[in-house]
Amino acid sequence: MDVSPDHPRYKSLVIREKMSELSDQGIVARTGLIAHGRGEAFDYLLGEKTTPAAQKAEAAIAAFLLEAERPVITMNGNASALCAAELLALAAEVGAQVEVNLFHWSRERVEKLVSYLESFTDLPILGREQDAVLEGIASDRARCCQTGIYAADVVLIPLEDGDRAEALRAAGKKVLAIDLNPLSRTAQAANATAVDEITRAVPQIRQAVKELQNDQPRRKKLLADFDNQANLAESVQYIIENLTAQQ
Ligand code: ATP
Ligand code: MG
Repeated sequence: MDVSPDHPRYKSLVIREKMSELSDQGIVARTGLIAHGRGEAFDYLLGEKTTPAAQKAEAAIAAFLLEAERPVITMNGNASALCAAELLALAAEVGAQVEVNLFHWSRERVEKLVSYLESFTDLPILGREQDAVLEGIASDRARCCQTGIYAADVVLIPLEDGDRAEALRAAGKKVLAIDLNPLSRTAQAANATAVDEITRAVPQIRQAVKELQNDQPRRKKLLADFDNQANLAESVQYIIENLTAQQ
């Protein structure tokens, strides 16, 4: 499809086209396209820009990742389609493991996604062999890799489902989310949630990593001061004010 770059929804249309192609290739699940639409709707309400609350959460996410002993970034179809190169660069910068973890799991789809990510990076991509089960969670969601999520203290879960976010919290992990919906279970369950579009959020997190990487006192202060519930409330307030200003 040809879209003119001056079309007001150019970026959104180009991304939709890419998601659709990657869905044909089996990388994005069909329901992933629906999840993307829900994200777009919330982004509209946020004015399609990074809010001050999101910026604070992104700095907190950077601080959590830098303070972690065994950080892991999980990748699913949507996160890979939208943001593979940036997320893999972030993983390299904070020394995180990368693990493919799917809602719609099949051996074939995992293989496709792991190979897709390997085409961007030399980092090892975990997920082909799920050899561990998180305790206390009675579902497929509990399956993961021993050296990845199982052993992680901090897990960044971009565009995740609420069940997994809650499961990871129950397993004692610090959970970091990127989710445009401040009301979702994922956003609510996480220790830090960037209510921001993933392609804006990850570069901001990388920038914060750069700024915080040699400043542990600032990282500690940021984390001590960060309150995810208050931050989510700020995002909701931002939406209310944005909508009121439109009337
Ligand atoms: P939950 O399971 O957490 O309660 P949900 O069931 O409403 O959430 P899911 O379909 O599980 O939603 O997950 C999709 C989530 O990802 C949605 O909350 C959506 O806002 C968010 N999302 C989709 N696309 C993007 C994007 N590009 N950037 C950031 N967030 C996104
Ligand atoms: Mg869900």
